[in-house]
Amino acid sequence: MASTGTHDTPGRFPAGARAFPHRDLTGIGHLERHEILFLLAEAEQWVELNRQPSKHCDELAGLTIINAFFENSTRTLLSFEIAGKRLGADVVNMHAAQSSVKKGETLIDTAITLNAMRADAIVIRHGSSGAVDLIASKVDCPVLNAGDGQHEHPTQALLDALALRHALEDRGEGSEDFTGLTVTICGDILHSRVARSNVLCLQALGASVRLCAPPALMPAGVEAIGAQPFHDFDAALDGADVAMMLRLQSERMSGQFIPSAREYHHLYGLTRERLERCAPDALVMHPGPMNRGVEIDSEVADMLDRSIITRQVEMGVAIRMACLDVLTRKARGVPGWNDGQWV
Ligand code: ASP
Repeated sequence: MASTGTHDTPGRFPAGARAFPHRDLTGIGHLERHEILFLLAEAEQWVELNRQPSKHCDELAGLTIINAFFENSTRTLLSFEIAGKRLGADVVNMHAAQSSVKKGETLIDTAITLNAMRADAIVIRHGSSGAVDLIASKVDCPVLNAGDGQHEHPTQALLDALALRHALEDRGEGSEDFTGLTVTICGDILHSRVARSNVLCLQALGASVRLCAPPALMPAGVEAIGAQPFHDFDAALDGADVAMMLRLQSERMSGQFIPSAREYHHLYGLTRERLERCAPDALVMHPGPMNRGVEIDSEVADMLDRSIITRQVEMGVAIRMACLDVLTRKARGVPGWNDGQWV
């Protein structure tokens, strides 16, 4: 079933290699451009499978995947669960509310416990930035970051890239990367792991990234990572090819960051009129969950020819299947690059 895909980069890996030199996927920041392209290429076979009436295969049969979610999630948890099950693995979900974490167990003890259960991959979401790296350093199996605090959400950025590539391909504008494309990411940049992972991923693939937020929700020094900061949404949208909208992450805010949701919408909500400022046919993205009428109007979110929000959800399952498949190849004895060595 698995193949090296059509977008593989010749020369970097041995011909036909099923290449990925990392044990874990904790952030886009650890990946090189050709590794991102490799994961996107690997996902194509799963996009195809997921569109068939029968979506099951047994690549990961016998393997146990633990989804350890210490923070609420609907789509990411469901997406990882479906991905693992479609690959034939035994998937177990651990919710923080039911776990010993509530009883005071330290993160390290939780990690040691999960490790002792001999999982073959652990998918972690946690409210603290860096928690996933900490757990990864304490366990013996691959760890996938499903979002850690304000830090990274690597599978979100990968699925966004895959959704964007498919949407451009459908318009006959497809190419391997996003060179020449301008993407405006607008919202609560300060608290967003999605923004960080997307800046890293989109830039690695050649896109120019503009970040737009009210002053209180813009982290300092975004120029240092190559992004262009804006506080004026109209200016940020001017001629952009993609508008990626983010919600206000009120669960991470202590205190008042914006005067009111109504004022926020007035200044930073994506309306049909504002969309006109972008390039003709500009695409609209949102990682979900959406707050309709705040950061995005319903009539924009539901525009069939412009919004690729449901496509993002579709691509999420394929990307997560690709990541689980690639990262468990060593355990399954599938030849490839593992831990920096060809085996
Ligand atoms: N679902 C994304 C995340 O987990 C975005 C969000 O929650 O706003 O970060």
